[in-house]
Amino acid sequence: MADLVRDDIGLGEIAGRIELPRQLLQEIQRNGLSTQFNGQNILDGTFSSAQFQVGANANQTISFGIQGATTNLLGAYQALSRQIGLGQVRMYPRTEMLDLVVIDGRARGIVVRDLVTDMTPFFDKWAGARGRFQGGATRKDDFARVAPGSPARQLADAGIECIGCGACYSSCDVVAWNPAYLGPAALNRAWTLVNDVRDTGNRARLAAVAGDAGCHACHTHMSCTERCPKQISPTASIAGLKRMTMAAAIKGEI
Ligand code: SF4
Ligand code: SF4
Repeated sequence: MADLVRDDIGLGEIAGRIELPRQLLQEIQRNGLSTQFNGQNILDGTFSSAQFQVGANANQTISFGIQGATTNLLGAYQALSRQIGLGQVRMYPRTEMLDLVVIDGRARGIVVRDLVTDMTPFFDKWAGARGRFQGGATRKDDFARVAPGSPARQLADAGIECIGCGACYSSCDVVAWNPAYLGPAALNRAWTLVNDVRDTGNRARLAAVAGDAGCHACHTHMSCTERCPKQISPTASIAGLKRMTMAAAIKGEI
């Protein structure tokens, strides 16, 4: 579960920052301090070890405590959840939010990581290269069997471990000066799919990667292959696409 604020901020302060009604907060506080059982405060965090005699004999007792029911926790989480449900408060994962920006006692924003990359154009290119598997089987069909040693499977295997990190994309010179270029990662993905014997979308995929911004725009600089942390060679995948699109064009398929 994400946290709204840093650990070292008390819940009373959270409530103030999310602008809980002051009256509600005071009521939670008052109830917690005044609720007693047999003269013992039970909601202020001090009711930690109580023993009840439940049988006729000396050791027939039950012990329990309510250590977590301190006043400043009571109601605050529920109130916070309600505010989130109403859209008044937004939650951010701890990994995303470094700090809370507070102006005049109110939360006004968050400080996110100082290096945030917008991957939208990168994955738009994947879509442009038709990098989505398009199956033709139905639920009634048996599992497809692809022999691990088959040539097509071996070609697909060479590029299949891509983690979508974008290192190849950001190191490609052609991407830098031709914004339309699909780039090494998207083309590598297309290559794994055209070698997937289960896929039925190859004609459209080959047509998509054969255009001006596709595989033929690659200048074989190899920067992508040098940078890939998964030891994939997008350059080799793109070379395979060049051959395949050429053959498809000669046959009049694209
Ligand atoms: S081989 Fe092609 S895709 Fe890879 S960096 Fe060079 S131009 Fe870009
Ligand atoms: S650098 Fe390698 S792992 Fe990262 S996106 Fe490119 S091909 Fe995939």
